[in-house]
Amino acid sequence: VERSFFFEHAFLPGGWRRNVRLESQNGRIVSARPDVRPEPQDRRERIAVPGLPNLHSHAFQRAMAGLAERRGPADDNFWSWREAMYRFVRAMGPDEVQAIAAYAYADMLEAGFTTVGEFHYVHRTPDGGAYADPAELALRHVAAAEETGLGMVMLPVFYAASTFGGAPPTSGQKRFIADLDAFADIVDRAGVAVRDSRLGRGLGIAPHSLRAVPPQLLTPLIQLKPEGPLHIHAAEQVKEVEDCLAWSGLRPVEWLLERVGLDPRWCLVHATHLTEDETRRLAASGAAAGLCPITEGNLGDGTFPAVAYLEAGGRFGVGTDSNIQLDAAGELRQLEYSQRLTLRARNVLAPASGASTGQRLLEAALEGGAQALGLGAAGLRPGAPADFVVLDALHTDLATVGEDNWLDAWIFALGRRGVDKVVVSGEIVVDGGRHRARDAIDARYRAAVAKLSTESVS
Ligand SMILES: [Zn+2]
Repeated sequence: VERSFFFEHAFLPGGWRRNVRLESQNGRIVSARPDVRPEPQDRRERIAVPGLPNLHSHAFQRAMAGLAERRGPADDNFWSWREAMYRFVRAMGPDEVQAIAAYAYADMLEAGFTTVGEFHYVHRTPDGGAYADPAELALRHVAAAEETGLGMVMLPVFYAASTFGGAPPTSGQKRFIADLDAFADIVDRAGVAVRDSRLGRGLGIAPHSLRAVPPQLLTPLIQLKPEGPLHIHAAEQVKEVEDCLAWSGLRPVEWLLERVGLDPRWCLVHATHLTEDETRRLAASGAAAGLCPITEGNLGDGTFPAVAYLEAGGRFGVGTDSNIQLDAAGELRQLEYSQRLTLRARNVLAPASGASTGQRLLEAALEGGAQALGLGAAGLRPGAPADFVVLDALHTDLATVGEDNWLDAWIFALGRRGVDKVVVSGEIVVDGGRHRARDAIDARYRAAVAKLSTESVS
């Protein structure tokens, strides 16, 4: 399928260009040329920016948004939130999983994301049994991405233990557990589904964390796939760092650097709590940090040392993790704000005096996100997926500033309200800020949530 677009302004690698023709074939960009004339068949738009990859999502957690914001009886922290999440996950069947994922994905698209890395760890039935197809729930996520029009990189998660040293899983974790053989089946089946899906963009392997994966299983796990992304949660919580030190004498990121070796296939999700030494070594490894600033703020995780990490040449992308609030621009804004609050300074992630903070954040998250998801090229260039966001050029916040300030106005002032159209693989899936199947997806989601709340009280 061939498509062609003409933009008055497009953010190409290197910066804003005018009168850009973009041609795509079978969902990939074949050319993006500035300073040319439109052709009659082109679809014409005013302002286009690349769609942002969302490198880390647990789609089902979208249905918990707003339900874990009351103070608990004891210390209210990540660990009490996790108990609430375990209770929530108990009742979901395959139809609910797909309905919730479709709702989350439509919201992601409206928010300006065009590919998701789904870090998928609910594999088993509510009783802890196996589905007839061991990858049933992974397949439901692939189907939800296809029906909503979102690019999908499936990251099946391996989960075997409740804490460092291989302690047995708790009953709240029984839907996540697999042994290596069962996991290999899930990976194979998910790989077929991704290959057969129009929007399947890759398959990776995700050891959940050093808590959940005994060390002797890490190597055979990585060997299941000789290429493709490797994602792991690391150093999100201080307690996790302390437990890892007590178990091994090393901090989680140190442990991964020394015992496994990190390279650009790896994405360390969160990597919040780093020493200066870990920050430099993680940056030098070429691995990506998978930052989820809005969720990390919601969970009270801590602050990633982004200034030192970027100065050391570190790569990062952004993820929406718990999906508490979806906004591609908002994740970049929160990342910068977390640094400003810590350092009591402004524009700390801009690369040089006079440079745009928004541009730096967007460029870095495009490159790092594409790397972490194995997407090949990033941004509006040949070889990349034909994914872009048309900003609302008529919105007063954009109409009253010049091209040089559009990215900053979008990221810092407008957020997702600035998204007019979203195009994925050359197809328009959001128009006027609204997903093309919004009503049907909402109705199915409401029915699924109603069913879950009836079942969880009975
Ligand atoms: Zn996560």
